[in-house]
Amino acid sequence: MSFTRALVAISACKVFQTMSPLVLPGQVFLPNSSVYNESVNSYFAAFEREVVPECIIKPNSSADVSVIMTASVAANTKLAVRGGGHTMWAGAANLQGGATVDLRNIKGVVLSNDNTTVSVGAGETWGSVYEKLIPLGLMVAGGRMLDVGVAGLTLGGGLSYFTGKVGFVADTVTNFEIVLASGQVVNANKDTNTDLFAALKGGSNNFGIVTKIDYPVFAHKYMWGGMSAFQAPSEPELFKAFTDFATAPTGDVDAQVILSVGFDTSIGVELSVASQYYTKQVEVITPPPSLAPFSAIQPQVFSSLRSDTILGFVAEQNAYNVPGARQLFFSATFKPDAALQQQIVEKWRDIIEPLKTAEGLAIYLVFQTLTKEMLQKSAASGANSFGLDTADGPIVSLLINPVWKSQADDSRIIAALTELVAAVDTLATAAGKYSKYRYLNYSFGTQNPIDGYGEASKANLKAVSKKYDPTQFFQSNVPGGFKLS
Ligand SMILES: Cc1cc2nc3c(=O)[nH]c(=O)nc-3n(C[C@H](O)[C@H](O)[C@H](O)COP(=O)(O)OP(=O)(O)OC[C@H]3O[C@@H](n4cnc5c(N)ncnc54)[C@H](O)[C@@H]3O)c2cc1C
Repeated sequence: MSFTRALVAISACKVFQTMSPLVLPGQVFLPNSSVYNESVNSYFAAFEREVVPECIIKPNSSADVSVIMTASVAANTKLAVRGGGHTMWAGAANLQGGATVDLRNIKGVVLSNDNTTVSVGAGETWGSVYEKLIPLGLMVAGGRMLDVGVAGLTLGGGLSYFTGKVGFVADTVTNFEIVLASGQVVNANKDTNTDLFAALKGGSNNFGIVTKIDYPVFAHKYMWGGMSAFQAPSEPELFKAFTDFATAPTGDVDAQVILSVGFDTSIGVELSVASQYYTKQVEVITPPPSLAPFSAIQPQVFSSLRSDTILGFVAEQNAYNVPGARQLFFSATFKPDAALQQQIVEKWRDIIEPLKTAEGLAIYLVFQTLTKEMLQKSAASGANSFGLDTADGPIVSLLINPVWKSQADDSRIIAALTELVAAVDTLATAAGKYSKYRYLNYSFGTQNPIDGYGEASKANLKAVSKKYDPTQFFQSNVPGGFKLS
């Protein structure tokens, strides 16, 4: 089938409906069909569910994606690319009035014969990967929530339970299969299309539609960890323990702590939770020394520290993340400093005070360290796009996560949280602890995480984009996600 490039953009859905009986049979879905409704209502957050695409296309294979790409470029149509649908802001992976390519039918979690690599279809979630690997005593470095998409998480970086040992999830990838705007299906790995391979590690949806990703697999059966919860008076001790962990001269590569401070109007008090994880395959009877300072802090509201499988820990976190809510992620970064962390929490307290009248409001600050060991491992794993120098580390990724009920509160909550991000940057700059890096997967649509990679990385990403997408289709016709301009 050949297409002549249209001079003006036409409806992608009309193009695909015309083609559908021949080349995409049963893969184009219009509003009010059950498949369309399921797709729209399966986005994680309300904002993406409220976007109304003209149609949803559900390819089954990279060959189908190739047909979609060729036709879209020829007809100059606009597309959205959707994986697990967990980005929260409207339009990241959905397109108002356009065609949304829902990749969830691109399946497959296939182990290599020697059990060293798993090849995962771009429509899979981390839950499916773990279901396949855990019964075999195997594991990959992947997401810490079941329904998060494999491809979206990896293309934005990917923070796993194993960051200290492997760097970002993207750093572990051995091959990306990707459909370019030309419709060509190519591989990117350490020997083939090496510039594209590096660009995809952090470069998100700017180069093509990824259809399959290969990850190394390792033996792993159980780990230790869980949550310890505290009230506000414990904050100074928690921030000291967090900063000591982040700046330890020799970091424990098997350990991880995710510290959250939150206010939930339904319980009316602030709570801090230290989620601690230790992945080494040894029997843990008492907390490992690197994490012991957290469980030593008293009093505690509750504690769930235990040995368990990864699935057990992921399920514990899943219970706190209810799909369909109005919620967003915002990202900031600073260098570890307990006093600065306290100032940030105080600023957060001031800024959220007037928001407490919003129905169902909960607002969390989630601190995670990108340790120097993680950054060293990331750098040693080969080129990527994050623009992070080992000398930049350690750094703390701050995820700000508001949840609320009513659309009427959208604009004041978004304005307040945008103000909070700016205030964090100001406080960090004043303390000499500012970092321009923004974790892409935690960034809001108005933030620009690719600028945070630095000028050299951004220039390289643009060059790779021009090489593999000469007509710049993914810059002009795939408006969702974080673009290179
Ligand atoms: C409850 C929850 C838990 C989370 N836990 C973690 C965690 O443990 N670690 C972590 O690092 N992050 C985590 N995140 C953040 C998560 O990594 C991002 O939201 C990520 O973008 C989700 O990917 P997705 O495929 O589900 O999302 P989508 O919204 O479908 O996609 C995200 C972006 O990637 C693009 N994209 C998706 N698939 C492809 C593809 N095949 N080819 C090209 N572009 C594609 C989309 O166009 C979109 O711009 C979590 C998020 C939530 C909501």
